[in-house]
Amino acid sequence: MMTDDTTQLPTFDSLGLAPELLDAIRDAGYERPTPIQADAIPVALKGRDLIGLAQTGTGKTASFTLPILNRLMHGPRRTRALVLTPTRELCLQVEESVRKYSKYAPLDVIPVFGGVSYEPQEKALRSGVDIVVATPGRLIDQLDRRNVDFSYLEMLVLDEADRMLDMGFAPQLQRIVEQIPRYRQTMLFSATMPPEVEALGRKYLRRPVVVQVGRRSQAASTVTHAVYPVRKERKTDLLVDLLTKSHHDSVLVFTRTKHGADKVERELTRHGIPTAAMHADKSQPARIRALEDFRTGAIRVLVATDIAQRGLDIDGISHVINFDVPQAPEDYVHRIGRTGRAASTGDAYTFMSPDEIGMVRTIERVIGQEIPRISVPGFDFGTVAATAAAAAHGDAATAV
Ligand code: AMP
Repeated sequence: MMTDDTTQLPTFDSLGLAPELLDAIRDAGYERPTPIQADAIPVALKGRDLIGLAQTGTGKTASFTLPILNRLMHGPRRTRALVLTPTRELCLQVEESVRKYSKYAPLDVIPVFGGVSYEPQEKALRSGVDIVVATPGRLIDQLDRRNVDFSYLEMLVLDEADRMLDMGFAPQLQRIVEQIPRYRQTMLFSATMPPEVEALGRKYLRRPVVVQVGRRSQAASTVTHAVYPVRKERKTDLLVDLLTKSHHDSVLVFTRTKHGADKVERELTRHGIPTAAMHADKSQPARIRALEDFRTGAIRVLVATDIAQRGLDIDGISHVINFDVPQAPEDYVHRIGRTGRAASTGDAYTFMSPDEIGMVRTIERVIGQEIPRISVPGFDFGTVAATAAAAAHGDAATAV
């Protein structure tokens, strides 16, 4: 029986937000608060400290920007809220959200991050802009230049606290928080809660309410996702490595180009892994034969371009491997939909070269979850680069 369980969910109207904000939310086209918003906003509006366990894509940004705007709409025009983010991208995203929701509220925001000139930031900071969204490094520079006055600050948000700590920002956070009045509302958001983040919470928050949401997953939930950081020229080797080291029943590999598909087919065949390629240049009989061989298990690996896979109906694929990161996030969801069907579990691996990092982030935003990274020693460009750098410094101990 179908039931309309959306009637059980809270509405934005029930959260206690000002009409100006509700209008902006309506303009944004949101129908209902996401779970983190429904849980966090009422707590934040009460002025309580808050720990939000949520990742990107859950709507976490609105769950702190809306309460900030709600509070700052009334009262003096001074810098009263600070949001700290690990990266410039996130800083800009938070700024954008503040602008979107403050459409009908007379509040201003300035993003402060490195790599751009100081002057415009300086001017806004000195004028006492209502909301500052900043990465820790540049904010410290501006503090050192005495451009920032936080003596009226009432609200502090540490966004993606786990990432800030991973990036080594703990000392900067400490220096910044020292400039902020003790009597304030502090909200900490983090995708994970390792002991270091817990310690941060104990240090900077007072009797916080913890709000936690599960992952919002649009891709088939039985699918295990993973991203393998790997240099472009090492992708084929990594594929061979994965396919030979553990058992894979039926693997669908996606490449961006026909040429790429042919190359992967050749290399796998050369390594004794029976493979067929499917793309627009293959004749119809060749395609039918490839599909038939794949179905019967004569070949375990099918390499295809996106074009070729449309309309393919193959059940029981155990692994999808994105040899190249799909250009459009929808293609990712679509490809992944090929595995994990009929409640059988499936794995979806994506090979990510340095120039594809941005595309993976976009996909993560769209599917509403961060995809775990798997670092394979000898392939991961991060560790390869670190090892090379260590070797260049003559640091034999780490250059393993
Ligand atoms: P975030 O997790 O804050 O990065 O938000 C992820 C995306 O969800 C953003 O593009 C928001 O604009 C959007 N979003 C936030 N709240 C809602 C909502 N209640 N309904 C629909 N979309 C939302």
